[in-house]
Amino acid sequence: MATLIPRHVKDALGTAVKALEAVESDRAAGRGDVIVARLDGRAFHTFVHVAHCAKPFDDALTAAMIETARQLVEEQGARVAYVQSDEISLLFPPPAGERGEHPFGGRYQKLASTLASAATAYLSLACRVCGVPVPSHVVATFDCRVFATDRAGATAAFAWRELDCVTNAVSSVARHVLGHAAMHKKGTAALLAAVAAADVDFSAYPAANRSGTYVRRCATLCALDDETVADIPVAHRPTEPFMRNLVVTRAGEGAARGLLHRAANAEAVLFDGAAPVEGSPPCLAAAEGAAAADI
Ligand SMILES: [Mg+2]
Repeated sequence: MATLIPRHVKDALGTAVKALEAVESDRAAGRGDVIVARLDGRAFHTFVHVAHCAKPFDDALTAAMIETARQLVEEQGARVAYVQSDEISLLFPPPAGERGEHPFGGRYQKLASTLASAATAYLSLACRVCGVPVPSHVVATFDCRVFATDRAGATAAFAWRELDCVTNAVSSVARHVLGHAAMHKKGTAALLAAVAAADVDFSAYPAANRSGTYVRRCATLCALDDETVADIPVAHRPTEPFMRNLVVTRAGEGAARGLLHRAANAEAVLFDGAAPVEGSPPCLAAAEGAAAADI
């Protein structure tokens, strides 16, 4: 038979344990901070092998990753997602309005654990929908890191992942075309030259793989079609077009237009969806300065 412990003893135990938990679980970004989360696929080398994915890039898996990013924006409150290789970066700008809050009050552990589990679940479903032949006993999982920064820091984070996309894409193609041994001690520029020398056109691979894909939540003026209007109770039917948050996926050749590392106004492109102005963003100039100081 279970031993019944008096309620006040159990409560005291709970108070002590919650204090232990709170040291980590209460740590949170400030209300005015920008939050950046980066989800990274775990052991994807093994996953793409058992799922028989095509090399160097698998269209179905690329589509499933973009769909995962889209769902993270739609369901988890991020404004922007950037997906490249086996990772997805998410942007959470400071909440609007006096009473707005970051998801989970900006608590890092809640955000990281929820985003990682949501991404894992979304990718499992997206693989089925997009036709990635994943064996039934295999699950691709993500880890997630979350940090608080400002607009400049977040812009630098996304620009850095764009540059990493190029490195990843070139090395995937080089490994496929040249083999692992021929890549020894070669940088990205040398690999690209070696791929071209082997008569392979790197630029012919899909833009989603070479440049990554942005998914963005943006307010759009919408009008409902008659069928949808008929489903809404009369008292609640909109009579005018209204603003609605839609998710737009920027993939394919259009991706190059939106890349931050080639935009002088990178911050406005990332946060506000501004049209990019060709040029070098401040974060690259700052990085050049830091690199020069290190030499
Ligand atoms: Mg990974």
